[in-house]
Amino acid sequence: MIETALDPVELLAVLKGIEREFGRRTGGQRWTSRVLDLDIVLWSGGTFAAPRLTIPHILFRERAFVLTPAVRIAGYWRDPITGLSVRQLHSRLTRPGTIRR
Ligand code: AMP
Repeated sequence: MIETALDPVELLAVLKGIEREFGRRTGGQRWTSRVLDLDIVLWSGGTFAAPRLTIPHILFRERAFVLTPAVRIAGYWRDPITGLSVRQLHSRLTRPGTIRR
């Protein structure tokens, strides 16, 4: 979870720059696949849409590798599209049938 004065498009540009830095050849070893994938999952402003940026991230509700750690740091945070909290989204994904919506 980060706090920034950047708007979402500016932040995405920064994140893409960090990804590029991590993917860069640093020594003898050449990375063949991406070592870092930085996405914007949610932000404090609700929904956001630009040509190459959609917030909430369109796939985050189906990804346990996103929701499981997110529960630990922001389980109370609400998805502005479904109205469900991160904790509820995680339960829905990992224990299907517990929350129907
Ligand atoms: P990725 O597959 O994660 O590398 O994302 C590829 C592209 O998805 C990025 O370059 C963005 O332009 C676009 N994108 C759309 N929505 C998002 C988001 N919420 N967070 C990050 N990237 C996004």
